Amino acid sequence: MHPLLVALDVDTAARARELAASLAGAMGGVKIGKQLFTAEGPPIVRAMTEAGHRVFLDLKFHDIPNTVAGAVRSAAGLGAWMLTIHAAGGRAMIRAARDAAEDAAARLGTPRPLIVAVTVLTSLDELALSEVGVERGLVAQVESLAVLAKAAGADGVVASPHEISAIRARCGSDFLVVTPGIRPAPAPGAPATRADQARTLTAAEAIARGADYLVVGRPVTAAPDPAAAARALRAEIDGAIGARQSR
Ligand code: C5P
Repeated sequence: MHPLLVALDVDTAARARELAASLAGAMGGVKIGKQLFTAEGPPIVRAMTEAGHRVFLDLKFHDIPNTVAGAVRSAAGLGAWMLTIHAAGGRAMIRAARDAAEDAAARLGTPRPLIVAVTVLTSLDELALSEVGVERGLVAQVESLAVLAKAAGADGVVASPHEISAIRARCGSDFLVVTPGIRPAPAPGAPATRADQARTLTAAEAIARGADYLVVGRPVTAAPDPAAAARALRAEIDGAIGARQSR
């Protein structure tokens, strides 16, 4: 299945269905996050799985282990293919999520949902981290939470494209890295903006650095022709995968 996951960050089920239908064939799955899930609830997850889309349910569970286990069982019941938890919830919470995913899948006779852990939100910088009491620096925090997540049974992590190599170095190649913060390459000859250089990477760059899945929202959903934007990204990703395999 293709690594391109499109974030359906919209307010209505109608818009989400329309977008997903227009992108079928150009993407490997949809991401449903807090915006759409809070507006439309579990039926939109079922509608997407019934329409044949893999659903990455990005609700970033972070609570006591028993509560997270219950939420993971519910997500498995909705047919989620992959879901997120916060690594900062700790070893017991991560383990409870993994165990609940296994139990639910065995009970339902369905594939086990993949559990990926958010390390440090990409909106936080070193100063913001220190304000919440983390003084060891952003990369050290990301690495440490990634190692913990792997040891406690997570299948992978969500990470900024800039953190992929550090995570690969500590967690190896059999650990999923899911990467948001992707922006299209500037048109040939156009200078990249400062913001792009500081915070984002292109899809090809993220694949070259070792990302397994790319989560892309607005560059596709806000494009004048979302299907064309998705097809262009897909071609860029396929080229980068080919180059990575021949390295
Ligand atoms: O920015 P874009 O619309 O492509 O974002 C797609 C998804 O990736 C969003 O749902 C958001 O949760 C996530 N994202 C992120 N970190 C960023 C940018 C986006 O986690 N720097």
